[in-house]
Amino acid sequence: MTVPFLEVENLHVHFVGRQRLFASAMPTIKAVNGISFSIERHRTFGLVGESGSGKSTVARAILQLADITAGTIRLGGVDVTNVRAHEELAFRKRVQAVLQDPYSSLNQVHQVRTIVGDGITRHFGIRPGPEREKRILSLLDEVGLTDDFLDRYPYEMSGGQRQRVSIARALAVAPELIIADEATSALDVSVQSQVLNVMKRVQADTGVAFLFIGHDLDVVRHVSDDIGVMYLGYLVEQGDADGLHDSPAHPYTEMLIASVPVPDPAGQADRRTLRRSFKRDSEPPSPADLPIGCPFASRCPFAMDICTEMMPTPTVARHGGHVRCHLHTSGPILAGESVVPYIRSASRSPSV
Ligand code: SF4
Repeated sequence: MTVPFLEVENLHVHFVGRQRLFASAMPTIKAVNGISFSIERHRTFGLVGESGSGKSTVARAILQLADITAGTIRLGGVDVTNVRAHEELAFRKRVQAVLQDPYSSLNQVHQVRTIVGDGITRHFGIRPGPEREKRILSLLDEVGLTDDFLDRYPYEMSGGQRQRVSIARALAVAPELIIADEATSALDVSVQSQVLNVMKRVQADTGVAFLFIGHDLDVVRHVSDDIGVMYLGYLVEQGDADGLHDSPAHPYTEMLIASVPVPDPAGQADRRTLRRSFKRDSEPPSPADLPIGCPFASRCPFAMDICTEMMPTPTVARHGGHVRCHLHTSGPILAGESVVPYIRSASRSPSV
């Protein structure tokens, strides 16, 4: 059995929010609530959900940028839940990040030579010179950039080129895990697919593990081996990427799939029909005031009485992962099967 490289166990991240006008106390924002997942070397775990689902907070917690309320994070079997100051340099060498906006995450006053080379000097002690230059050129080649990018500044490059530089900068320290947080969301579709292909090639060449965070389930599926679906800080479904995409067991997962447009007119019409089944105008509850039952109940057209009374427990899904939804254990009892046939038949019923 392969030992996971990253293990996140029962992670909770709660923090104090801003006090509202006339409110008597500061609210506690429950951004992440009991998330568990693991990533093996050479593999990609995709975390998907709408804005506000808590997926970026998970990334920040792993990167030691958010205080962890409870839970454990292990890297290669070693507890890194709270990395101490003297361990930070070693941790940063193992875990790197590629963020959504390369324009703000790259230092505008530095050329690519310095942006990529700094990590080589800091982590390997190789000072500016021919050996460092050779390494930088090899990294640029790895991400599909030519030698003449060495002297360029971020403002002289396109969004896709800047994101390739961000990947080269991350790779410069030979990390074991790269966290890509909405790393391709700001790019055009064609540039996005080029950058995704760069990530796949980099993984094939180096074996680095990826945590890929996004809101478009089709994109996340394209690069991921396994996917976790987050809603309001909870992992509501998790499993093999293709299995989960093709046989989603949670209504929210199907809502995410149906919200992505597809070029094929028949497929698009089908997704539109499925989309109409959901209460798209309903607002999710506030993370400062979570319901006791299923967090998706206010938007779910299939909610039953039990859904507002009890949080669903995980059920084994057909795709091998698990799902948290009462449809699998109460009411129609889907028992881990795809929820799509149920949504189709329920949407034809006048009561839904
Ligand atoms: Fe909908 Fe109930 Fe399932 Fe939640 S538990 S997704 S409300 S059916």
